[in-house]
Amino acid sequence: MARDKADIIVVGAGIFGLWTAYAALARGLNVLVLEAGPQVGHGASGGIVGALAPHMPERWGDKKQFQFEALTVLGDALKAVEHESGLPTGYGRVGRLVPLMDEIGRERALSRIADAKENWGTAARMQILPPDAFPDWLHPQAAPAGIVHDDLTGRLHPHLTCLALAEAIRRGGAVIETGCTVTAVHSGSVQTDHGARQAQAIVLAAGVAGFDLLSPLVGEVPGRAEKGQAALLDMDMKDVPLIYADGLYLIGHAGGGVAIGATSERHFEGVGPDALLDDVIARACAISPHLAQARVVRRWAGLRPRANGRDPMLGAVPGTRGIYAALGAFKIGFGIGQKVGQVLVDEIMEGRIAMPDSFRVAAHLGR
Ligand SMILES: Cc1cc2nc3c(=O)[nH]c(=O)nc-3n(C[C@H](O)[C@H](O)[C@H](O)COP(=O)(O)OP(=O)(O)OC[C@H]3O[C@@H](n4cnc5c(N)ncnc54)[C@H](O)[C@@H]3O)c2cc1C
Repeated sequence: MARDKADIIVVGAGIFGLWTAYAALARGLNVLVLEAGPQVGHGASGGIVGALAPHMPERWGDKKQFQFEALTVLGDALKAVEHESGLPTGYGRVGRLVPLMDEIGRERALSRIADAKENWGTAARMQILPPDAFPDWLHPQAAPAGIVHDDLTGRLHPHLTCLALAEAIRRGGAVIETGCTVTAVHSGSVQTDHGARQAQAIVLAAGVAGFDLLSPLVGEVPGRAEKGQAALLDMDMKDVPLIYADGLYLIGHAGGGVAIGATSERHFEGVGPDALLDDVIARACAISPHLAQARVVRRWAGLRPRANGRDPMLGAVPGTRGIYAALGAFKIGFGIGQKVGQVLVDEIMEGRIAMPDSFRVAAHLGR
C-alpha cells in the first residue's frame, strides 16, 4: 500500500531505519518507510554475522557509555519485537572468548578486568578462563595464556532481525514501501521514483547511499563504503560464546550455522564475495580446527556505511528543517541500532539530544 503523507518518513529499511521507524511508531507517529530494494535489509543489514560486542572497557567515555547502555537493553527490546512479530531474531547474550597468547596479553587482560568492574558495574563481567575451557572450539594451544571471557557480548541473526522488526512495524500500523528509491530530500518532502512523499520529519537511513543523498544538503560527501565479507558454515556451536581471534569473529547462530568474518576493505573492486574470503575461512579453521570439517553454505559481502569521523552520524542535519541523519553505523549497527532509534525520535519529538557530540552530523563535516 502506498501512502504519500506521514508524520515521519524513514529512508532505508536497514537496521538503523527499522529501529527508528519502530521507535517512532511506539511514540504514536504515523510512519512511512521507503526502501529501494525488493525487501527490507537489502543493504549491509541483510548479512550473516551479527556480533553484539562491547568496546573495550578501558579509556571510558561517552561513546563507550552509549554503546554499553545500548547493549544492556537490547535483549529485552528484541524480546518485545519477537513477541509483536511472531518471528525469531536469533538473539542470545552468549558471551565472548578471546584467546591470550602470552604473559603480556594476560597482564593487559587483568588491567581490562579492573576497568570492566569499574565501568560495567554489576551489569556484566570479564574474567580469565584456563586455556582448556572450550577445547572443542578453541584449542588450548591457541590460547596458551588463557582465555578472556565476558558475558556482555551477544549475537543475533542480522537478516532475521530485520524481518522481525519489519513485521512488528507493519503490524503496528506503519507502511513499508519496498521498491521505492528516494532520489532527493527536501525539508518536508522526498522525491522518489514513484513520485513525491511528504512528512514533517525525514530520517535518512539509507546506509552508504545515504551519504550521497545528504551531500547536496551539506556540500560534501560525508562518508564512504567499507566492504566486508563473511561466510556461513554448516555446523552447530550451540550456545558456545562468540570467539574473537586473529581479527575474526566466529559466531554460532541459534539453531545452527557458524558465521565467520569479516574482511575490512577500504579499497575494493567488485561488491560481491571474492578470494579474500578464502583467507578468512582458512584463518577461522586455524583458530577452531573443528570448523575444517564444515561445509561453506553461504559467502556474503556487504558495504558498511562509514562516516568521515568514523563514529555514527546522527541527528538534525545542519541548515535544514526536519531532516535527520541515521547514518555511519559502520561496524556496530546491530549493537546500537535500538538506542539510535530511541534517541533520534527523542530529538525529533522533544528536541532532546542524548548522544555524544562526536555522533552529531557537524562532527563529520570538513574532514
Ligand atoms: C561482512 C559484514 C559483517 C558485519 N558484522 C557486523 C557485526 O557483527 N555486528 C554489527 O553490529 N554490525 C556488523 N556489520 C555492520 C552492519 O551490517 C552495519 O552497521 C549495518 O547493517 C548498517 O545498517 P544501516 O541501516 O545503516 O544501513 P543498511 O543496512 O545498508 O541499510 C540501508 C538501506 O537503505 C536502502 N536504500 C539505499 N538507498 C536508498 C534510497 N535512495 N532510497 C530508499 N532506500 C535506500 C538500502 O537498500 C538498504 O536496505 C557488518 C557488516 C558487514 C558488511
